[in-house]
Amino acid sequence: MKIHEYQAKQILARYNIPIPRGELAATPAEARSIAKSYGVPVVVKAQVLVGGRGKAGGVKLAATPDEAEVVAERILGLNIKGVTVRKLLVAAATDIAKEIYLGAVLDRTSQRVVVMASAEGGVEIEEVARTMPEKIVKVAADPFLGLADFQARQLAFGIGLPTNLVRDFVRLAKGLVQAFVDTDASLAEINPLVVAKDGTLRAIDAKIVLDDNGLFRHRDLEALRDLDEEDIYEREARMNELSYVKLDGEIGCMVNGAGLAMATMDMIKLYGSAPANFLDIGGGARAERVAAALRIILSDRHVKAVLFNIFGGITRCDEVARGIVTALQQVKPSVPMVARLIGTNEEEGRRILGEANMITAATLAEAAQKVVAAARGDERRGDEV
Ligand code: GDP
Ligand code: MN
Repeated sequence: MKIHEYQAKQILARYNIPIPRGELAATPAEARSIAKSYGVPVVVKAQVLVGGRGKAGGVKLAATPDEAEVVAERILGLNIKGVTVRKLLVAAATDIAKEIYLGAVLDRTSQRVVVMASAEGGVEIEEVARTMPEKIVKVAADPFLGLADFQARQLAFGIGLPTNLVRDFVRLAKGLVQAFVDTDASLAEINPLVVAKDGTLRAIDAKIVLDDNGLFRHRDLEALRDLDEEDIYEREARMNELSYVKLDGEIGCMVNGAGLAMATMDMIKLYGSAPANFLDIGGGARAERVAAALRIILSDRHVKAVLFNIFGGITRCDEVARGIVTALQQVKPSVPMVARLIGTNEEEGRRILGEANMITAATLAEAAQKVVAAARGDERRGDEV
């Protein structure tokens, strides 16, 4: 779950990370009055859950309250990467001498929280990683001891930070890692962390992504969810307890079980196409859930065919098949559907689906080839594979 910059900053402030003061505004008049009460130049920032707001015109400096009102007017309602700006953060502006990148991320390979720093701040870190990977310094925090002082110093020296700032940087980096661990985050990033002209460090942007699987331990963080910004289909998936991740291929996948879903995606790739999504419908496969999953899959206009790959264990295949048929009657898809059912009563399940005009297959390899052929509009519909 992504949270907004202002929310991430509130969390980081609790770890003594220096954050410029700021408040939320929903109207130009509110932006004006915040700027007026601060009595200093401000920066007006779109609060949307996407990156690159600066480039998109969503971050603007304002020297006076009048200017704050004008830029707020311009940013509110702006569409940034498909999201409409409804809220602004109005914060005291910082005179920047240098922009640095500092981020903590979970690295699955080393099974550690890896902390990265770069003297090339302000730009997206993926961009730095692509064009000048040598400019990123990394250390891995110990799972028990956290980020050690010497490691934080390695980062500071690695990015050429002036020596008089190293002590503050060490405290800040340790605070970031602690915040990451305490909130069960999967990413905590300050980009840019700036050296201000007054010679102090300040976090002028913040991004935290929370691990959904850790949210049950953090009721307070769960409450930060912005329903306005959640993709409607991701929300529908969450409400129906489906694990759904949209991808950019053309084969919709409806599978019960995460491992089976991954194997299905691999097979689709093997036979020359790409999955449009990862979707685990979990156990049971009742008609309402299948229908919800089907609506979600078909909401993606890139989907050219759908593959059902269902293992009928405790739930019998014929029951699953009836669930699918009911769901098809509700959703009425217009793209070809291929089903591979395996497990208890599989023949009966296949018969029911065949009667409902679905293409059926006995093995995953066969199903994957048939669905790829069907997506290509192949007349043979893969019957000869
Ligand atoms: P992002 O584009 O969504 O990452 O938004 P940021 O909050 O990182 O802002 C983008 C850029 O705007 C930063 O890299 C800075 O160059 C600039 N910026 C943001 N806040 C300030 C500020 O207080 N003072 C100055 N001078 N520039 C700022
Ligand atoms: Mn940024």
